[in-house]
Amino acid sequence: MSEDASLHADVAEILLTEDEIQAKVRALGAQIGADYAGRPLTLVSVLKGSLPFMADLMRAIELPVRIDLMEVSSYGGSATESSGLVRILKDLSASIADEDVLIVEDIIDTGLTLNYLVRYLRGKAPASLRICTLLDKPARRLVEIPVDYTGFTIPDQFVVGYGLDYGELYRNLRYVGVLKPEVYSEVAGG
Ligand code: 5GP
Repeated sequence: MSEDASLHADVAEILLTEDEIQAKVRALGAQIGADYAGRPLTLVSVLKGSLPFMADLMRAIELPVRIDLMEVSSYGGSATESSGLVRILKDLSASIADEDVLIVEDIIDTGLTLNYLVRYLRGKAPASLRICTLLDKPARRLVEIPVDYTGFTIPDQFVVGYGLDYGELYRNLRYVGVLKPEVYSEVAGG
């Protein structure tokens, strides 16, 4: 079996097709472009899961934008659960003081990671700070997060694709889907 065939063969169900995602990203980009018209915008994204969304969204926004990237790791959790303890692996490369900042996130689950990030970025004194997430799983929220732009609200399922991984794989899927149950036990087991 080729690598490509096995990649897709691990997927049990496609939740969001490539076309659905791309249409939503265009709509979000248009909305953000209208809301921030006349103001330069700084997009701050969190590696690695938000990479495809950031790349597509920035090109859907018809405004001058700056981008910056952070990388955080949450530790103490498992492959499918976040712990809320966040360590910054890569910080912003430039000051965001007095800038309009939009956080670009792949998914909000418990909200613990973003809650930490929002408090951290607020401490850098941006002129404004808003949140855009492609996916939202409100069923599992542990902390309240004011989300300004949401792509899709999805049920409480662990999803992969379009940046989202399981064991660092499946990020390159163009769609968002759910893996077959046996895949989770295989990777978790070794
Ligand atoms: P939270 O702190 O909101 O619980 O989780 C945030 C992070 O957990 C996300 O940025 C993502 O990396 C990971 N995560 C949460 N839910 C999922 C999911 O369904 N699939 C994948 N692949 N990662 C998830």
